[in-house]
Amino acid sequence: MTSFNEFGLAEPITRALVQEQYTTPTPIQADAIPLVLAGRDLIGIAQTGTGKTAAFALPILNRLAANRKPLEKKSPRVLVLSPTRELSGQILDSFRTYGRHLRLQSALVIGGVPMGRQVRDLMNGLDVLVATPGRLLDLLKSNGVRFNQIEVLVLDEADRMLDMGFIHDIRTIVAKLPKERQTLLFSATMPREIADLAAHMLRDPARVAVTPVASTAERIAQRVIMTDKSAKSALLIEVLRNEVTGQSLVFTRTKHGADKVVKSLHHAGLSAEAIHGNKSQNQRERVLGAFRSGKLKVLVATDIAARGIDVDGISHVINYDLPNIPESYVHRIGRTARAGADGIAISFCDNEEVAFLRDIEKLIQMKLPQTERRTAPRNDMPAAHHRPQHAGRNGRNGNRRNGQQQRRGGNGSGHHGQSQRRGEHGHHGKGQQQRRDGESRHTPSAAQSSPDNIATVAFMKRPHRPANIRADRGAR
Ligand code: AMP
Repeated sequence: MTSFNEFGLAEPITRALVQEQYTTPTPIQADAIPLVLAGRDLIGIAQTGTGKTAAFALPILNRLAANRKPLEKKSPRVLVLSPTRELSGQILDSFRTYGRHLRLQSALVIGGVPMGRQVRDLMNGLDVLVATPGRLLDLLKSNGVRFNQIEVLVLDEADRMLDMGFIHDIRTIVAKLPKERQTLLFSATMPREIADLAAHMLRDPARVAVTPVASTAERIAQRVIMTDKSAKSALLIEVLRNEVTGQSLVFTRTKHGADKVVKSLHHAGLSAEAIHGNKSQNQRERVLGAFRSGKLKVLVATDIAARGIDVDGISHVINYDLPNIPESYVHRIGRTARAGADGIAISFCDNEEVAFLRDIEKLIQMKLPQTERRTAPRNDMPAAHHRPQHAGRNGRNGNRRNGQQQRRGGNGSGHHGQSQRRGEHGHHGKGQQQRRDGESRHTPSAAQSSPDNIATVAFMKRPHRPANIRADRGAR
């Protein structure tokens, strides 16, 4: 499919797409939309940034438009489950954007905000409900929501839900849904638990898989600064003062780490704010609003809190700590180079993180250029400024480890902290430190090296979105 007109979507939907300046379906959309329109269950292996939200939202909207029904009290027709509040807000925004000419009822059910408004939103029934699992279960228990009218279930970022310990909640929810329904499951990776879940939940599912599309339009220049742990804070101040011109997103592994970084930046006279799961919804919205509007130049975040942040002006992603889960690196750096801009990703790596760096380089299949700033370099990495390796040189999976190996996670400095939290409620997940080398693990196919020793990964080119749409994101 080379044009949205070829899908046979209802005119009000294609009109909204024209307004959004979507001209060509992305690969996941080209593959998934006809299958979902035909009523098939679907497993979509796709990362964020591939256009997967529209891949499920458009055919669902089409179904709702073609088959309007009176809504029943407390009952949604479509349920989308997503792991985080931010992602849920973005999914709802997407439904509202693409469905803006359809006059459908939609709402958000997420934790961290009072339940009253959500109960009211549900009262007269809904076409589309986007929810995080924990709050949805709370509402179910208090009889605020009924599942008997659900025609379509979407599980988005299923692997992330597993990481966050939601798998049991999901099983509970799914057990209460009508058997007669269409089910769509999207996941960046396919760990065994998700494959098992899919086998129970989906009926004869079609499978589509995409890797981020190679594009020369958007490139992220990546490099690593080898540093002592104790020097990271001064290094960050130096980088922010000397190099960063736009906005920067700084990643730490833990919430505590994020707060510490903000403190040290304030101490140096730089303004910065943190977002993470310990902040109240109001604080998060205020900080995200300031970042989106460009008033806030430096946002410090943990992986889960930053998931889904979609701000065009981010020129730099700085990994203050390297993630112990290599896929998180790809997600992190994908926050820059939005809307056609070039992006820069700088990672600080101390001696304890050398192994994480190796895992990341294996995943992205290239060596990242390094600058040596350690006072006592360890001898377990090639010397600084080694030459980048061409993507795929060792074969896509040639140097991956087998699926049984545990993730490296414990140097005793809180590596488990944020990623093990269960959403915003603080329950613990299980088994998420295990490697998720399922059948469909994939790496960015665009990984490649440029001649000037700056490593690049290309992501899908994103259109410039009108400011009012971005400003709404995640705000509900
Ligand atoms: P997603 O992977 O769903 O988070 O989408 C990534 C971004 O791509 C979002 O900002 C979408 O608005 C945008 N997008 C999705 N599909 C298209 C398309 N066909 N053409 C242009 N932009 C798109």
